[in-house]
Amino acid sequence: MPDAMAALNRLGIQVPVEKGHQFHGICFRTENSATSARFAQGKGLGVRRTILHGVLVEHAASLGVEMQWGTRVDVLGHGKVAANGVEWTARWIIGADGQRSRVRHFAQLDHPHLSQRYGYRQHFRVAPWTDCVEIYWAPEGQAYVTPTSEHEVCVALVMEQKQNRMSHLAQIFPSLAERLAGREYVTHERGAMTICRRLPHVTRGSVALIGEAAGSIDAVTGEGMALAFKQALALGEALPQGHLSLYESRNREICRMPFLMSQLMVFLGRHPQLQSRIIHACQQDSSLFAQLMAVHLGTRSPLSVSPVSLTSFGWNLVTA
Ligand SMILES: Cc1cc2nc3c(=O)[nH]c(=O)nc-3n(C[C@H](O)[C@H](O)[C@H](O)COP(=O)(O)OP(=O)(O)OC[C@H]3O[C@@H](n4cnc5c(N)ncnc54)[C@H](O)[C@@H]3O)c2cc1C
Repeated sequence: MPDAMAALNRLGIQVPVEKGHQFHGICFRTENSATSARFAQGKGLGVRRTILHGVLVEHAASLGVEMQWGTRVDVLGHGKVAANGVEWTARWIIGADGQRSRVRHFAQLDHPHLSQRYGYRQHFRVAPWTDCVEIYWAPEGQAYVTPTSEHEVCVALVMEQKQNRMSHLAQIFPSLAERLAGREYVTHERGAMTICRRLPHVTRGSVALIGEAAGSIDAVTGEGMALAFKQALALGEALPQGHLSLYESRNREICRMPFLMSQLMVFLGRHPQLQSRIIHACQQDSSLFAQLMAVHLGTRSPLSVSPVSLTSFGWNLVTA
């Protein structure tokens, strides 16, 4: 998403455009309605996670970071960690170990999740048919399509029920299945839980959490990586000051809107009637959808959304 690209740039990382495929906005679709908006600032880049990972690793190496691949890290306490059983003393311990973070558990920062759904993804050999990321809505969940090259798209499903996977595409999202009919898939289907979890605190003593270890939002927001990059910037600013309270407060700000939007998207996903009404109402006033997207991406304050748009949205919602 554009805010992730901006945060990456601030970290000094440029992802070459030819490593992925640019997109210019978001389109919400149901089987009988659609609404779309272009980004007011910047562009998105659809890029395979493995390629992005390569760019991040290269950048870290160029800064002199020594990477120890295949190393299992355990926190021992009193500033000590064990890397494949070898003990190290660390000034700071940064838990970047994902959704099931052991560092979070050790630091007693665990917190129950708010929602969880099933995520699947697969890449198909087909030229992107729009310059937006499309999000298809259905009562069972959402499918989103991200262009990842000029001849490939990534289809991700975010579902309430585990059994609703790519093999069910035609039943759940007929128009998307039609687009993909006869197209070769270039990766196997892979899945993971997508969890919404907000932690009251992400630091304790010399331990800081980052990325999904520090809480996570539903995959359909497309903001997971953006959060991690923004947290990286905030943590980078806090460490030289010698304490983590700055990171704690910045992180709270960074997460506020993405968590709210994530909850909203999950709520909407669970209320199909409301889904089609909202998409229909946004269709009547496309400027409102653009304003809401700008709020989602942090380029606009929620308070600045036009009252005229909100009123006409309310009217379109009740009359839809
Ligand atoms: C289906 C799906 C689609 C998604 N689509 C998008 C999208 O389009 N855009 C977006 O921005 N986000 C998306 N996300 C979210 C995104 O994947 C996450 O936000 C992101 O992966 C979080 O990165 P992370 O580095 O915090 O955690 P992870 O990617 O989970 O990485 C954690 C790493 O820590 C390692 N690790 C764990 N424990 C240890 C240990 N004890 N010792 C050593 N290493 C350890 C793991 O092996 C792993 O490599 C999607 C998620 C899902 C499930």
